Amino acid sequence: MSKPLIYDLTLEDLTAWAKSRGQPAYRARQVWEGLYRRFWEKPEAFTPLPKALRQALAEDFAFQPFEPAATLVSTDGETHKTLFRLPDGAQIETVRMRYLRRRTLCISTQAGCAMGCTFCATGQMGLTRNLTAGEIVAQVLYYARWLRQRGERVTNIVFMGMGEPFHNYDATMRAVDILNDAAGFNLGARRMTISTVGLVPQIRRFTQERRQVNLAVSLHAADDELRNTLIPVNRKYPVAELLQAVREYTEATRRRVTFEWALIRDVNDTPEQARLLASRVQGMLAHVNLIPLNPTAGFGGKASSRRRAQAFCRILEDGGIPCTVRLRRGIDIQAGCGQLASRTGEELNFVLKSS
Ligand code: SAH
Ligand code: SF4
Repeated sequence: MSKPLIYDLTLEDLTAWAKSRGQPAYRARQVWEGLYRRFWEKPEAFTPLPKALRQALAEDFAFQPFEPAATLVSTDGETHKTLFRLPDGAQIETVRMRYLRRRTLCISTQAGCAMGCTFCATGQMGLTRNLTAGEIVAQVLYYARWLRQRGERVTNIVFMGMGEPFHNYDATMRAVDILNDAAGFNLGARRMTISTVGLVPQIRRFTQERRQVNLAVSLHAADDELRNTLIPVNRKYPVAELLQAVREYTEATRRRVTFEWALIRDVNDTPEQARLLASRVQGMLAHVNLIPLNPTAGFGGKASSRRRAQAFCRILEDGGIPCTVRLRRGIDIQAGCGQLASRTGEELNFVLKSS
């Protein structure tokens, strides 16, 4: 069996490990700080530790979770996207976005996705496997190192890359806890956002756990007839049940939820859908994010025009629902979810050369 990834461990786990090696707890803390404050990436770098302990680290843990296989940079230079290859051949994507003072990472929780949303490049490829907490955390560290070299740091993390975070709940929350730890990476939970397709039992669990992480829900349609055609899992958790669970979340936590809505021309960008949405989320502590669809190879839909998006937004606002029309950032590098990994080698070469 291959060695566990060092980033899979919490500080507690690391303390237990140090103990098993006959070392005091402060050694674990030194390792933790080395990993998450100094961003050391190999055991030899941990020079404050005795040599024997550095060797023990190398014997017991893997430090290299994946190799970058390709990086694309948008024409404005503000969005970078990296395709990572894992040792078993699975591939994942991580996106870094620069916007004003924000340095936001969009990270993956699974290689592929089992949910099969028709408009989504990741959904079109199916699920390869869950990522471990360490593989999720390592994506953040990769860009944290990159930013540090430029005197900057990660300010926000969105779990909106490949995969459905609530279909890999435990590993995702473990990654949140590791990144949140005050003695280590210390990124506030409120600076993280988890986006879910709408898995109701996990939304309830998330509510009960009273986590400070922001919640986004990919709604995309306000009735079952339409949502069933875009999001297969809607047959299991229909709109009414989903909205009920989300309403309970906002009431229990007093935290605002974000509804994601990818505007598809003449499909879900109609005034009727806007009015229905406004009526169904009436009185909820909510915000709607409208994003024009990123076209993908396996889906015939087109993006809505800006005018249409603004008209949709106005209907929501008139109905008392705050809403924002987002720009399609990084569109020229296929920064949409799964759009890089779903390309064949040849196509990818083309994209790389032409960007
Ligand atoms: N699985 C989670 C998180 C990853 S997807 C979820 O579905 O919420 C992140 C966001 O990108 C979701 O809101 C998803 O619906 C959206 N998305 C996927 N494919 C898209 C596309 N082609 N154009 C625009 N948004 C897309
Ligand atoms: Fe999975 Fe989200 Fe894509 Fe749906 S939109 S297939 S849940 S990654």
